[in-house]
Amino acid sequence: MKLKNKITILITGGAGFIGSNLCEYFLNKDYNVICLDNFATGHKHNVETFIENNNFKLIEGDIRNIDDCRKSVQGVDYVLHQAALGSVPRSINDPATTNDVNVTGFLNMLIASRDAKIKRFIYAASSSTYGDSEALPKVEDVIGKPLSPYAITKYVNELYAEIFSNTYGLETIGLRYFNVFGKNQDPNGAYAAVIPKFVMQLMNLESPKINGDGNYSRDFTYIDNVIQMNELAMNTKNNEAINTVYNVAYGDQNTLNNLVESLKNNLSIYNPSIMNVEVEYGPNRIGDIPHSLASIDKAKKMLGYNPQFSMEQGLIESVKWYWENLKR
Ligand code: NAD
Repeated sequence: MKLKNKITILITGGAGFIGSNLCEYFLNKDYNVICLDNFATGHKHNVETFIENNNFKLIEGDIRNIDDCRKSVQGVDYVLHQAALGSVPRSINDPATTNDVNVTGFLNMLIASRDAKIKRFIYAASSSTYGDSEALPKVEDVIGKPLSPYAITKYVNELYAEIFSNTYGLETIGLRYFNVFGKNQDPNGAYAAVIPKFVMQLMNLESPKINGDGNYSRDFTYIDNVIQMNELAMNTKNNEAINTVYNVAYGDQNTLNNLVESLKNNLSIYNPSIMNVEVEYGPNRIGDIPHSLASIDKAKKMLGYNPQFSMEQGLIESVKWYWENLKR
């Protein structure tokens, strides 16, 4: 499959939300793209349109299986490791499976990447690593104690990546994503993320249910900003910019109440009755941090990051996509 003189990227979790957007972007840029996924939370329909593309290869496999990892990294230049089990509540309900996938699977991918001598291993880290630190904005080297099993796994990823850089010379970059949203994000299931879940509820004229009073805030990050950071991390030639971690966010804070207002405004273009849907409030959720806001100074300085989409701009694109693709 590999064409000469083309760069080959392995995207683990490529059938998931972020992974499938990365696959699409890099295929459009004419890279060879390999997707490794076991469809635990990702979907075949997210990668269906790529199957015809000669530059695309789908490997159905599991990162918990080292042989699947070794097979997938053959001939690969860069790994963009996205495969993991997301969701804080999922990890509270089943910490062992989250640990197997997010820690053992991660370690397998590092070992396979080291042995295959890939050029750089870029991985999805998480803002959950800031844990109980109340400092705002979040700066990369000031973290607190993890608040969930999921947060532990993402922090352990960073520790392993650093050891692999220092011990084996594997180039790594961790990207601490902050509440990413955009097309292909799954609105279904008990562990759906807040934006797609609320969009679906509002589209169906059902009340979105907010945990808490709606004043918790997040740095909601549109998928295109995340793609930009993956590309910058892959291409940087600056040796001081590697073997470290970066916040990936827009650098702005919005409360959940702001978010719902904005979703209602954007969706009412398609159906004005959505403006009248009321929000329901419930108790706060265990493991949720009250506020999250990223400093993106390090990414700007070291990698030239320049995010193009605010939450508002990203929501316009996302809402349009959900309306056109998932409105029943
Ligand atoms: P997602 O669930 O849509 O994608 C994860 C993908 O990994 C899925 O396609 C799933 O099938 C695959 N996968 C899971 N277990 C696997 C296994 N054992 N072997 C092979 N593939 C497996 O989630 P996402 O939102 O696209 O998240 C991608 C990455 O970004 C994850 O590592 C997640 O922890 C991280 N992250 C996401 C966010 C966010 O806001 N979405 C925030 C912080 C970090």
